[in-house]
Amino acid sequence: MVNICLLGGVGEIGGNKILLYGKDGAIFLDFGLNLKKKREYMVGYGFERINRVLRNYLRVGILPKISGVYREDLAANEEFIYNAREFSIDCCIVSHGHLDHYGSVAFLKKEIPIAVSKSMKALIEHSIETSGRTGIDKEIFTFRDRKIEEIRKKDKTYEESVDEVDRPLIIFEEGKKIEGIPFDITPLPVDHSIPATFGFRIETRDAVIAYTSDIRLHGVVSKYTENFIQNVINSDILLIEGTRIQDSATRTEEDVKNQVITETLKKNGKLVSALVSSLDVDRIRTLIQAAEECGRIPVLSPRIYHLIKTLEEVESKVKLPRMENVKIYFEKRSIIDNGYFLESAYFRGWLKKLYEKLLNSDKLIKSEDISKHQDEYFLIFNSLQCVFELAEIKPRPGSLFIESTSEPHDEEQEIEWEKVENWVNLLRLDSRWIHASGHANREDLITIIKQVRPKRVIPIHTENPREFKKLLEKDNIRVEIIEEGGELNLDLN
Ligand SMILES: [Zn+2]
Repeated sequence: MVNICLLGGVGEIGGNKILLYGKDGAIFLDFGLNLKKKREYMVGYGFERINRVLRNYLRVGILPKISGVYREDLAANEEFIYNAREFSIDCCIVSHGHLDHYGSVAFLKKEIPIAVSKSMKALIEHSIETSGRTGIDKEIFTFRDRKIEEIRKKDKTYEESVDEVDRPLIIFEEGKKIEGIPFDITPLPVDHSIPATFGFRIETRDAVIAYTSDIRLHGVVSKYTENFIQNVINSDILLIEGTRIQDSATRTEEDVKNQVITETLKKNGKLVSALVSSLDVDRIRTLIQAAEECGRIPVLSPRIYHLIKTLEEVESKVKLPRMENVKIYFEKRSIIDNGYFLESAYFRGWLKKLYEKLLNSDKLIKSEDISKHQDEYFLIFNSLQCVFELAEIKPRPGSLFIESTSEPHDEEQEIEWEKVENWVNLLRLDSRWIHASGHANREDLITIIKQVRPKRVIPIHTENPREFKKLLEKDNIRVEIIEEGGELNLDLN
């Protein structure tokens, strides 16, 4: 007998935490951060204080109330999970490097092995290094015992080590069964807005379960998704994401490229800049190609350059952009030397290292140089703060600003976008939203389900699970709606 228990990502987009347990053991499929709840309850920085972060995450439901799974060094979480069900987890399998799928791994006890692919690990490490994440949040592959740290400070004779240790790690490969864990689980790559995204085929004694992770059929590697579907046909259970179950819009990566080219060609004598999600390698490649086809030099933010270099270094299979013609934007961070004094504390470790390596090449380009020859460049940034860099460059009025990321999903993100819009107006930029989603739209979701023909569908990662019922039950496809914390017993006989 096997049970699927949904501990997060239910009735909401992101925060996936799927618990699969039975006689043979227990695993997590993703242990993501519930960004929505975090935003709802986080006030200033006080909430994050280490001695109460775990307790408060349990209190407000950012973390599920189960016991036996959380790190033991963070104090006093007992009151919320004293009577909770206890699990002994054999492995936490991560589907891809988006925070809403792996961000809560840092709260798991240090003995639980984390399973990822090589490229996924590199992407997550890149994010941790370049995002300035501090505290517990960055301990995805490592673990630092905070309790022992304090005890040692109090009692100098206490000898237990406080060194950061690595969490046990399982590196899996596409198409190969993950070794050393319960159930027969095969990772299969799928197409999404970040490379190294995997769906899974899970065989238990009772049932075959397919988990899509985040998926689309309209991206550049849609063949991955098609291959995934072929491998999970006739599964007993299909756990499928439904971010866009109420949206039929279609725009492919090729559409994005063509539209970017059209808009760029209209901007003679002016600057063109674009904002992308920082891990969307396909989009970065598209924009570099579009820039080159318009005869402009692509200029990458240092974080994007770091991302590509990281993937190059691990010899990832991910298709990377051509980097021969690109330049890297030299940010001003110091007070002296016009902002370019690398010894300044404001150039953080990775950034300083990156710039030092490039200092004697012709790869670095400063805002002053871009400012003088605005129509020669196409800037590709990955953070909303790029508006400050644009202010340095002083784009000619009417310059193009392409927003090539997802639409804001909630109020909080909308407020941030409003600020960007304020800058766009202040700098008199001409903005366009040109984007292809990382998620399958309604018609593609239905296509995937009909091709898989599962006995039962469980929608996750969606605000509208009931929409699946409406759309599918007329075709006699059974849809199970599971509430958060609820579960399904797969004793199918
Ligand atoms: Zn995702």
